[in-house]
Amino acid sequence: MKVQTDIKDSILKGFELPLMEEFYTIQGEGVFTGVAAYFIRLGGCDVGCHWCDVKESWEAAKHPVTSVEDMVANAKKSKAKSVVITGGEPLTWNMDQLTKRLKEEGFKVHIETSGAYPFSGTWDWVCLSPKKLKLPVEEAYQKAHELKVIIFNHHDFKFAEEQAAKVSADCALLLQPEWGKADEMTPLIVDYVMNNPQWKISLQTHKYMNIP
Ligand code: SF4
Repeated sequence: MKVQTDIKDSILKGFELPLMEEFYTIQGEGVFTGVAAYFIRLGGCDVGCHWCDVKESWEAAKHPVTSVEDMVANAKKSKAKSVVITGGEPLTWNMDQLTKRLKEEGFKVHIETSGAYPFSGTWDWVCLSPKKLKLPVEEAYQKAHELKVIIFNHHDFKFAEEQAAKVSADCALLLQPEWGKADEMTPLIVDYVMNNPQWKISLQTHKYMNIP
């Protein structure tokens, strides 16, 4: 976790976290595409991807500090069996309390992370989406159940292979077109996956369905 001296103790210990939004929806991308899940989107990310579609998440101070207990209580009001913690970059923060409490309530707990910071929390599923600007820490590659590489340009295929060489043998490998480049990159990804069938295609189906 990044150490910032102006952060209150309850946040450092993970009892409260900056919450951007939380909602019950259908997971739109990755291995669990199509599965109903409760999403908790935390504020705070300093990775700085220029094509980021949640730039409003970057500044943690803009998002209300919210207790883990409130988030867990809200998740319980849904019919979700799994909770996806996303951001922002959730591993900016201490995830121990949030994952502990969600698991105590019987949820499967997933994370979507760039892997740029050391891990905290206990996870049933780790979706690692590495970013060139801030590469994952070594432990992220071992923990990944799913490697999801965003394809924005031609070089990203090379980057994807470099990242795939670092994950475990049973990690699912997915290539996902960046939304703004989907028309251009999807045909290239189709060709690539047919020639390299260890990869699968991930599409942001929630955007086609117009759901969050
Ligand atoms: S790591 Fe994720 S949240 Fe952070 S800038 Fe990149 S795409 Fe946006």
